[in-house]
Amino acid sequence: MVATGSGPRPAGSALGVDIGGTNIKWVHRADAAVVARGTLPTPAAGPAQVAAAIAEIAAARTVEAIGVALPGHLSPDLRSTTTIPNIDGDWQGFPLADMLERATAKPVLLMNDARAFASAELALGAARGHSDVVFMTMGTGIGGAIALGGTVLRGPGDRIGEIGHMTAAPGGDRCGCGARGCLETVAGGRALATAWSRALDSRGTGNQDRSATPEDLVQAARSGDTTARKILDTAATAVSTALGSVLAQLGLSTVVVGGGVAPAFDMMRPAVEPVLRDRWRLIGPVTLLAAALGPYAGAMGAALNATAQPLVVPSAPPRLSAI
Ligand SMILES: [Zn+2]
Repeated sequence: MVATGSGPRPAGSALGVDIGGTNIKWVHRADAAVVARGTLPTPAAGPAQVAAAIAEIAAARTVEAIGVALPGHLSPDLRSTTTIPNIDGDWQGFPLADMLERATAKPVLLMNDARAFASAELALGAARGHSDVVFMTMGTGIGGAIALGGTVLRGPGDRIGEIGHMTAAPGGDRCGCGARGCLETVAGGRALATAWSRALDSRGTGNQDRSATPEDLVQAARSGDTTARKILDTAATAVSTALGSVLAQLGLSTVVVGGGVAPAFDMMRPAVEPVLRDRWRLIGPVTLLAAALGPYAGAMGAALNATAQPLVVPSAPPRLSAI
């Protein structure tokens, strides 16, 4: 590795890639604007194929650096993946940054996806102008991040802020992380969909051709289904309890909520707000903000991360055959 710059650089051009369990989203950011973006299915054959897909996107664009966001944790040097629970394949110890640098001859920086989402919302979105914020992403699972003093905290292996893995139901369902009863097993999108599927099956109205989705649940709750409402209320109580604890612990009072299930958050507000009001004496009124950047926030955060770091290029010649 050869460092060719010193200190943070101004916004350059970067490819930001957000790897999800279902899709890979990417943005090409240049001169502080998104000039192109796209989505493709996440290859199911494992990390080498995911790396090849990213190299292919990079080959078609002119960028100075590549940022990659992943739904999991990284090695202490942030170069390899460790625990990536919701994407197929063996990601433990996979040297994604080195592999992509060899394939693309660009500096590559990895980041947790919730921390990437938070970085983008802090710099460009709902949290712009705030410096101390808790972020929560409600999607298939529940991600989290914490910004203090205008910086998103990352910590060893990019592991700070896992609100979704706070225990909400001791001894409850097994979580993808290995523990039981984590918040996301109670209130994550997958858990909500499973609960709604069970409710439909018990009524004999389940759809045999298609699994229920969180959106189905929300739609049913909106149209007055009491069981659907009860499932959402249970989720809201779990979310607000965890969130209240986090805010009290950190002494913070601003929250940004995003992710695919976030549009349903308005239905959870009646259950969430009284719980957060009980925290007033400690932290004052809580401000709940809806994320502003949409589904490409994680990819934008990955691109920002890539351009905010000192420029480092691989010393080895590019080897496109490496992947
Ligand atoms: Zn967990």
